[in-house]
Amino acid sequence: MRVLLLSDIHANLEALEACLAVAPKCDSIVNLGDIVGYGASPNEVTERSQRLGGLVVRGNHDKACSGLTDPKDFNPLAGLAVLWTRDHLTPENANWLRLLPQGPVQIDGLPDVQFVHGSPLDEDEYVVTEADASQPLLTTPVPVTFFGHTHIQGVVKSRPGGNDFLRPEYRTVGQREHCEFALEQGSSYLVNPGSVGQPRDGDWRAAFAVFDSSARAVTLYRVPYNLKGAQDRIVAANLPRRLANRLAAGR
Ligand code: ZN
Repeated sequence: MRVLLLSDIHANLEALEACLAVAPKCDSIVNLGDIVGYGASPNEVTERSQRLGGLVVRGNHDKACSGLTDPKDFNPLAGLAVLWTRDHLTPENANWLRLLPQGPVQIDGLPDVQFVHGSPLDEDEYVVTEADASQPLLTTPVPVTFFGHTHIQGVVKSRPGGNDFLRPEYRTVGQREHCEFALEQGSSYLVNPGSVGQPRDGDWRAAFAVFDSSARAVTLYRVPYNLKGAQDRIVAANLPRRLANRLAAGR
């Protein structure tokens, strides 16, 4: 089975469309949450996600923007974007976001794989460092976890005495590229497909991944998208200009 993995789209329609345009044909699709927040197309991206179907787990921005949680724990910039998004989401779309399941969640046919926004131990926890990954890798009974939340594309692999944080190595900074990782039997993995619409790993390109369960391989992708279009929309929407500027830096 081939699974298309999208995460942290953050209301960036241009980035989402660029990923979907080049993604290989897959048998199912999993969205790891944070569909909205930061970007200026929350309704368009929510409705596109609904039409794509598949499994969708909720992210912290989905919860805050749909009124499930208070944005007081967010940094000021993220908090402003939450309030803007609340004002602009249709009631139907807010309701759909509010009802998204909490991860980790599994899908039929893939018993050794699970999907969550943050950590398998806590949907809101960040797994950024090797140390952050230790407890989840040691305690979760499911060998392969796909997660998002950090916006950093990569693979964490357990090994005796520690973990390896594997980042893809790309040759360019602006072309479409991909990088494949084989998942060995007997090791546990945390895999982050990267952020579609708000990359924070220094690479401005939209990120996504494809998991091939029969080959036990993950392919990580980076795709250039209409950055200017996404930025112009943010400025026109009167969202903080910094949200537009930082898209270009991938930070
Ligand atoms: Zn996010």
